[in-house]
Amino acid sequence: MTGPTEPARAPADIAIYDAYVATVDIQNRILHPATVTIHGNRISGLYGSGEAVPPARRRIDGKGRLVLPGFVNIHSHAVLTGLRGRTEDVPGEVSLHSHLLPFRARMTPDGALALARLGALEALRFGTTTMVDLYWHADAVGRAFDEVGLRGVLGESISEVDLLRVEDGVYEFDRAKGQKKMREAEQLIRSWHGRGGGRFRCVVAPHAPDDCSPELLADVQALARQYRIPISMHVAQSRSEVKRLKSWYG
Ligand SMILES: [Zn+2]
Repeated sequence: MTGPTEPARAPADIAIYDAYVATVDIQNRILHPATVTIHGNRISGLYGSGEAVPPARRRIDGKGRLVLPGFVNIHSHAVLTGLRGRTEDVPGEVSLHSHLLPFRARMTPDGALALARLGALEALRFGTTTMVDLYWHADAVGRAFDEVGLRGVLGESISEVDLLRVEDGVYEFDRAKGQKKMREAEQLIRSWHGRGGGRFRCVVAPHAPDDCSPELLADVQALARQYRIPISMHVAQSRSEVKRLKSWYG
């Protein structure tokens, strides 16, 4: 056996046998034919050709298949699965205002839960096991991820501009709006960071530098330091954003 040593004698819950196994170890070995055993929610063993494999309650034929670590999606918005097929041919800067922001402005927690379930199931179906997901109603997104067994890094999206008016060139920073989102973000951290034995973590997620004031971003930095967690935000999403920021801040 070349993998973890535990538990040695107890029957495995699952054995995936006769598969290609991409170990992603220090030598990047790909073993074949190989067997992976699982006890509970842990990989418990990796066995190469000719090695004795412990019995398993469930055996999965891996012939012709590749077993590899789960993919990690480092930036996603599972709820936006609901817009699939509607913005592909629309330029990014246009779709942001014609579809993405109005969709978000009208989103409810129940709607976010339903769409995040769909996004999470699709992700899992195609091999993603961890998603960094930033959106409004992040608590609902977390619940969806938890239900399907995904590992999640969650961030409540923070901004202080009425995004529906941005299309008309109206940028009004509303301090109270930003502080409300900051409280929601902290609540998310308190209830989700470390949940599920560490399966869930949080980030602080200011939306973008053109809808958060420098003062709000300073608050964001303080919150991230307080909880010792990273910040994740969109930057330079469009030419107009870059132009706007240059005009504001030089
Ligand atoms: Zn994004």
